[in-house]
Amino acid sequence: MFIDKVDIYVKAGDGGAGAVSFRREKYVPYGGPDGGDGGRGGNIVFVADPSMNTLLAFRYKKKFIAQNGECGRGSKCHGKNGEDLIIRVPYGTLIIDKATGKIIKDMSDDKPFVLCRGGRGGWGNRRFATPTRQVPNFAKSGTKGEEREITLELKMLADVGLVGYPSVGKSSILARISAARPKIADYHFTTLTPNLGVVSTGEDSGFVAADIPGLIEGAAEGAGLGHEFLRHIERCRLLLHVVDISGSEGRDPVEDIKKINRELAEYSAELATRPQIIVANKVDLIDRKSADLDRFEAFVAELGVGLIYISAATGENIGRLVRMTAEKLKELPPPKIYESEIEPADFVGRKTKETVVRRENKKFIVEGEWLVNLLGQVNLSDWESLNYFQRVLRRSGVFEMLEEAGCRDGDTVSIYGYEFDYVK
Ligand code: GDP
Ligand code: MG
Repeated sequence: MFIDKVDIYVKAGDGGAGAVSFRREKYVPYGGPDGGDGGRGGNIVFVADPSMNTLLAFRYKKKFIAQNGECGRGSKCHGKNGEDLIIRVPYGTLIIDKATGKIIKDMSDDKPFVLCRGGRGGWGNRRFATPTRQVPNFAKSGTKGEEREITLELKMLADVGLVGYPSVGKSSILARISAARPKIADYHFTTLTPNLGVVSTGEDSGFVAADIPGLIEGAAEGAGLGHEFLRHIERCRLLLHVVDISGSEGRDPVEDIKKINRELAEYSAELATRPQIIVANKVDLIDRKSADLDRFEAFVAELGVGLIYISAATGENIGRLVRMTAEKLKELPPPKIYESEIEPADFVGRKTKETVVRRENKKFIVEGEWLVNLLGQVNLSDWESLNYFQRVLRRSGVFEMLEEAGCRDGDTVSIYGYEFDYVK
């Protein structure tokens, strides 16, 4: 079973809570607060893995939750940070926001991608000690780790795609030109999963070829096999269009090329314009001198694409096919990489920037996840830190919201237990 589209849920670890603790030691009267900070929650990190070519691993496991940070302890012990959760996906996997369908990230390079950040650890009570507050009996809880519902969609990243009717020899060719060992058989649809093979063309040059299951008529409208595989050749720079030149199954290569090209065009107009080389396979089965190839060759010439006769069975012209492909690739642009349609900062922001102001008797309560984060960062007993806090509140429009809610000079504002008098 080939899986190339799955929905999963991911959540980064929560930050651990800070500790409330006081030093207790013989001969040390009035030991100060020594509650340590909580640890950071683990991130959700995606990594593209070249050895994978399906999303099968996600068929049974759909929830990925990174470790929480540990709580702080006494004696200034910092809680242990949660471990990052690394999620491996095949190259060319798109991470898509499930709700909006927008692309967050195309996993097409070697860089790890942090999708969800772990929550920050809360401060222990020792951070809140000041000359006038020597017994802080409170600490901060950690902040929540980010969570998301996403769709993973694999659009394989291969330079070259082998297309053609079933049994024309696509898998045999891939096996010939690369180390890939796809299933080969004389019945249709043996290829049920796309196969990738690395074709080496020199010391450290080469290209990646993909063999996708046979395309058949009506595939673009969803009839039969093939349509769901077309997305895997969407990014190919070059298509090797394989035909059975011997007509061993009663096929007419000219009709086959027309039909396959129609399928490609129906799926995507862009795909129809992708450069092609016609690969006439099974040449070992015909006598080239007596065979009538005029109509076929005239047709290919009209298409204006390259043509090569090969035999995957005997190996004839296989080397030439590889060189011809490599030459053509040099002229072609690199594979398409999808741009992110949402900035990571946006989707984090959307959720956490929400602010709610409500009135409770004479108090104005301000709430919002981002404020919890902010409070975890600032030391409110420190003048500079406090100033920064006020500036952020002003800039984020919290003061305006307070005014709108009817807050006037001298009223009490409460933000997660931190209270101050409102002054315009
Ligand atoms: P695919 O469905 O296009 O991947 O085709 P396969 O590679 O599975 O091949 C289908 C059948 O054709 C198998 O029995 C192969 O052994 C046979 N075949 C493939 N290439 C050649 C060739 O060049 N000459 C001959 N005689 N048979 C071939
Ligand atoms: Mg095959």
